[in-house]
Amino acid sequence: MTGETDRPECTHWIGAEQRHCKEATGVRPYLTGPRCPAHTPRALQGLKENEPGPGMPASAWTTPSPLSDSRVHDARAIASGKRRSHPNAYRAAQAAVQEGTQL
Ligand SMILES: [Zn+2]
Repeated sequence: MTGETDRPECTHWIGAEQRHCKEATGVRPYLTGPRCPAHTPRALQGLKENEPGPGMPASAWTTPSPLSDSRVHDARAIASGKRRSHPNAYRAAQAAVQEGTQL
């Protein structure tokens, strides 16, 4: 690629000056490309930047699902391959079932 630098610089085309902005301070990535604070999509529309909000409440994703309670991982089910699991869990379950049958 051409014009690629370590520091992102504003790629906004200043039509009146027939050049790219090239401002490197405070540049952040936007859908339209890297932009300095003066040329963000909202700034170009004459709008105020969105204020950073509190985001999702911390408890939003911590509610335990009743579904997960019923997911009892049975070693036999995992070893048989009927229950999807990680390869490590699969091998451990197969070993556990093997030991059980050998005893
Ligand atoms: Zn700019």
